[in-house]
This record gives sequence, C-alpha cells and structure tokens, in this order.
Amino acid sequence: MLKTFFSNWKRRIVQIVSLGLIGEWSFYGIFRCPFAVPYIGCGNCPVIQCPGRSLWLWSWILIGGSVLVFGRAFCGWICPGGLVSEILSMGSFFKNKLKQRVSAGLAYGKYFVLTLALYFFFLAQNPRWAIPIRTGDFFKSVGLTFEHADPIWIYKTLFVLAALGLGLAVPMFWCRFLCPTGGAIEILSRFSLFGFLKNARCSDCDQCRRRCHLETRPSEINCVQCGDCKETCKPNAIEWKSPLAPWLNPDTNFGSGQAPSADRTHFL
Ligand code: SF4
Ligand code: SF4
Ligand code: SF4
Repeated sequence: MLKTFFSNWKRRIVQIVSLGLIGEWSFYGIFRCPFAVPYIGCGNCPVIQCPGRSLWLWSWILIGGSVLVFGRAFCGWICPGGLVSEILSMGSFFKNKLKQRVSAGLAYGKYFVLTLALYFFFLAQNPRWAIPIRTGDFFKSVGLTFEHADPIWIYKTLFVLAALGLGLAVPMFWCRFLCPTGGAIEILSRFSLFGFLKNARCSDCDQCRRRCHLETRPSEINCVQCGDCKETCKPNAIEWKSPLAPWLNPDTNFGSGQAPSADRTHFL
C-alpha cells in the first residue's frame, strides 16, 4: 500500500511542500473560517491568525492560472485537502465497488454543492456566521468554536468532516462527489492547454481505472491529472498533451490513423 502511495514520488514531494505552504490555511478554512464559503472572503476576515488573510488573492490567481494550463492538476498535485483525502482513502474497504454509472451520477453532486456555494456567495453575500474569534492557539480555538459557534456553522463543518471521513469507506468521497472547488476547477479545466488524455489506442481495458485513486480514467470526469495511471496502460494510450493538438496541427499522427479519442466527451 505504501509502495503504491509513493510510486509517483515527485507528486508526493510537491504535495508535501504545498502542505507546508498552504496546509495551515486549508485547515483554518475547515475548522475556523466564519464565512459560509471559506477561502474567498479572507480579506475581510476577523480571524487574524489565519494565513489566508495574506495568501488568498495570490493563491486564487495562481490556482486559476494553473487550471487554464494544467486542468485539474491543482487537485492532484497541490491541494492539501486532496492529500488528506488520499491518505484517508488508503484503507477504504469499498474500493472499485461502486458501479461506474452510480459513481458518474454521484460526481454531479459537486456541481450541486457548487451551486449552493455560488448562491451563498453572490445572492446571500457570503454571510459570516458567529464563531468565537480571539481564543488563543489553533487547537484551543477549534474546541471553543465547536462549543459556541452558530448551529448552522456546526452543521456545515460536520457535513464536510463527515464527507471527508466517508473516504475511509469509499475512496476520495469528498473530492469525487461533493467538493465545490473541485467542481469549479473541473468546469474550467475543459479549457486547459495540457493534460493526461486517452488517445485512439485505448482498448477500454480499464487498467488505468483500477490504478486510479479516484476510480476514473484520463479524459473523464474526476481525473485530477496525477499521471499515476500512465505506466499501467499496455497499449500506451495515455499521453501528456494538449487537447488542442488535433486542431493546431491537423497532421498529428495518433497512431491508429483515426481521429484521437483524446477528447472530453465523457467529461461533464
Ligand atoms: S476536490 Fe476539493 S478537496 Fe479535493 S483536491 Fe480538489 S480542491 Fe482539494
Ligand atoms: S489502461 Fe489504457 S487502454 Fe486500458 S482503459 Fe486505460 S487508457 Fe484505455
Ligand atoms: S485517470 Fe490517471 S491521471 Fe487521471 S486521476 Fe486517475 S490516475 Fe490520475
């Protein structure tokens, strides 16, 4: 299990560095952020210990830029929440058991939660729910927050924690089915310049899906561009390339003489 976890060691190193840089902000966002939609209202946040107050604007610019270039790679390489989900999912007992149709249907849950987040942000003006503010160090303040916060804050936080915890049963439950950030990135990543994509050599053997921690395949919903599955593909049908390649260079040879299947028809 550990061998598989560290097989793509470059990705693990990037994830660990990123955990050091933005991990604290991520955990403040879950356990201390008073806003209905965390990570966005940081400029006006009263929780002065949260590193997001100085990080949020540049982080969102960098995340947006990374999505346009590398698709959902932020999820696979940078997001500390994704790393935590992966660690929780190492021992999931319901691996590769969900029917593909069920899994693809549940994946639309991300867009439902995203719609809810957009409602709170734009129409309800991202309400700030009452939590204790000046409470000392992080762990003490988390305890006090759960004791005294608005019930609605507690329900929201318990919902997120329960969904993360469900990763112990169904791998990557939060990231695959509910995370609104993942949903927004997935929509934007339709326009990305590069990514791991399937080509016409794909024989539908599903080896990549069995290797994938999100139980998907390149070019399909929930692919986070980690590249972990590339070596498992015997026909060498997984390529790192631009989905725009066939249009930029109509002479591109995709091996079988057919139009590439490296499209995103199964994407949304
Ligand atoms: S789906 Fe959400 S929590 Fe998971 S890696 Fe992406 S942004 Fe992070
Ligand atoms: S392992 Fe390769 S051939 Fe098999 S389904 Fe995945 S991309 Fe297609
Ligand atoms: S399909 Fe491959 S590249 Fe995409 S998330 Fe799964 S293992 Fe990573």
